[in-house]
Amino acid sequence: MPRRVLVTRSAREWDHGRGILARVAAAGADIVELPGDRLSLNLPDDPRRAYAEAKATLAVVVAPPSKRRLQPIAPSADWRVDLAEGCPAHCSYCYLAGSLKGPPITRVYANLDEILAGLPTYLGQGTITSRNAGRAHEGTTFEASCYTDPLALEPLTGSLSAAIAWFGRWQADAQLRFTSKFADVAPLLAISHGGRTRMRASLNPRLFARFEGGTSPVAARLAALRQMALAGYPVGLTIAPIIAAEGWEAAYATLIEDAATALNDVPALDLTVELITHRFTAGSKAVLDSWYPGSSLDMSNALRATKRTKFGTEKQVYDAPMMKALRGFFERQTADQLPRARILYWT
Ligand code: SF4
Repeated sequence: MPRRVLVTRSAREWDHGRGILARVAAAGADIVELPGDRLSLNLPDDPRRAYAEAKATLAVVVAPPSKRRLQPIAPSADWRVDLAEGCPAHCSYCYLAGSLKGPPITRVYANLDEILAGLPTYLGQGTITSRNAGRAHEGTTFEASCYTDPLALEPLTGSLSAAIAWFGRWQADAQLRFTSKFADVAPLLAISHGGRTRMRASLNPRLFARFEGGTSPVAARLAALRQMALAGYPVGLTIAPIIAAEGWEAAYATLIEDAATALNDVPALDLTVELITHRFTAGSKAVLDSWYPGSSLDMSNALRATKRTKFGTEKQVYDAPMMKALRGFFERQTADQLPRARILYWT
């Protein structure tokens, strides 16, 4: 629940923007209707207070054409589609620290109809999952969780429900994908989704819950995923980021057992697993250190190796022996505990 909601003039011209305004008004948020499209944030100078205020600020804006030109997003999907940018939670490893610039406010897009209307152009044009022999059957894939957690915002926006319903009506070989650390799936259960949306629960064991401030408890996320699977959605686990801190083996073993308990008896289960190890760049570490100065998340160079990205930048990943130990563990545990699951990728 944001403390302050800013709504631009252009956002108010869209039905969906006015719908969001009505929802946040009903929820009792403090609404500022801006005279134009410039966001004046007026954040305090103190970085801690500025962070807290930015995280409590929601802006309802129009996604410009540059944001509606889709980019490939390996290894998850052919294309990244953004319904929003930013997230109100407080994860001390948040990958958004490296990908979004500026104060961490959340922007939600009022021109959802325009965003969705642009998708058919990309049908059949994918080069990531569409060219992967094991995943081509998914059709053209669109990932909605790259720059936000869409389920976190759903009570205020309705954007995710609208997108799922849109894909449900779209009689095409296409799939919407989203992953979430939240659990309120009630509005999604009755949508005619046509099997064209895959929800994944983004998970870490309870041992690391202290790194995931403001998110739903892991047990609630698994219960939500079960409800989605029972409602006929294809589902998945995004185990991310995998953290090799003391006790990791027992903690992740329990997590995978819990997932098995939640899912293995679901009829016609379509379950995938995505395995993403913890990584950071010098830039994301600097931002996260400033946002979460007291965090005990290890971002030192211990157990780390430097990897060059295709963009020429460097990131810190676990070193080869640790990667090997982690990968072997997760592949064994998945095969043993979740025999119906397909691992989509390890990174
Ligand atoms: S839920 Fe995801 S997007 Fe939100 S703060 Fe946590 S890691 Fe970042």
